[in-house]
Amino acid sequence: MTETKQTTTEQEAAEAPRVCAAGSKGQNPCWRPVWQEVPRVMLYIGEEPALCSEHYYARVLGEHADAALYALEATEEWIKGAVQDDPHGLLTERAYNVRDDLFKEAAQAWARSKAAESAAQVGPPQPGEVYPPLVVREQMGLLLHRSDALNNARGALIGDMELTLTQRLAVLEALTEASEAANEKAMRYREEQGFGK
Ligand SMILES: [Zn+2]
Repeated sequence: MTETKQTTTEQEAAEAPRVCAAGSKGQNPCWRPVWQEVPRVMLYIGEEPALCSEHYYARVLGEHADAALYALEATEEWIKGAVQDDPHGLLTERAYNVRDDLFKEAAQAWARSKAAESAAQVGPPQPGEVYPPLVVREQMGLLLHRSDALNNARGALIGDMELTLTQRLAVLEALTEASEAANEKAMRYREEQGFGK
């Protein structure tokens, strides 16, 4: 009898969906089931599925952000080295263009990755609660990330803090967005006052 009982319990344990490993050692462990059907291309060699779909998605975006950050840092080093010694100016011009492009790409990638991370971090639905879909949680994460970045920019302007490279990236993303929003607001105001487009 005891043997039968044990077998059933083992079977049940094997069939129960495992829980995502993200944050399992911290204060805020993930509650979603492991994404068993994760595309192989998203796994490292020899890795078994261990995360939920949202954490795999955040990991992919995080890796893209890391790649952009690495490229940006390497370009900064290049500018301090060979580019600095460029006697003709051609390399200098190209290098600064590369750095500008990478700065924008890294800023966007960083913001998207932070947004996906904070979306995945949201806890399980509470009884009676309508659980916000991924797109809503991501947008919330993005807006809060921008709000933090603008706060940091204020601290840096006042002189209270020095920004790290990733903080500068976040500020750049937030400022680009704020500048576009202010421009749209100005255009809308002109139209509302009857002065056309
Ligand atoms: Zn997860």
